[in-house]
Amino acid sequence: MTRDFRWMPHAGRRHAIRRQLTPRDAGETLCGVPLIIPADQPYAHWCWPTCPACDSAWRAHEGIGPPRRPARRPGETAACAQ
Ligand SMILES: [Zn+2]
Repeated sequence: MTRDFRWMPHAGRRHAIRRQLTPRDAGETLCGVPLIIPADQPYAHWCWPTCPACDSAWRAHEGIGPPRRPARRPGETAACAQ
C-alpha cells in the first residue's frame, strides 16, 4: 500500500508532507505551512510533538479514527527527550 504522506519535523512540530517532496523542494505541510525540505534533520527534531492539524487531516485521508487516548500522558516524557 502506498502512502501519500510522510512526517517531517518543521518549526517545532512533526508535520505531514507529501511523500514525493525531496530535499530542497519547496512545498507545504498538510496543515498549510510553507517549507523548504531540508537535506537532513537533527535526530532530536523527531521528538517534537505531532502537529494536531496534520494528524487529523492525515487520519481523515488514511481513514483512521481519532486516537483513543493522548499519545503522551501529562508528566510523561518521551524516551528520546533525554
Ligand atoms: Zn502541521
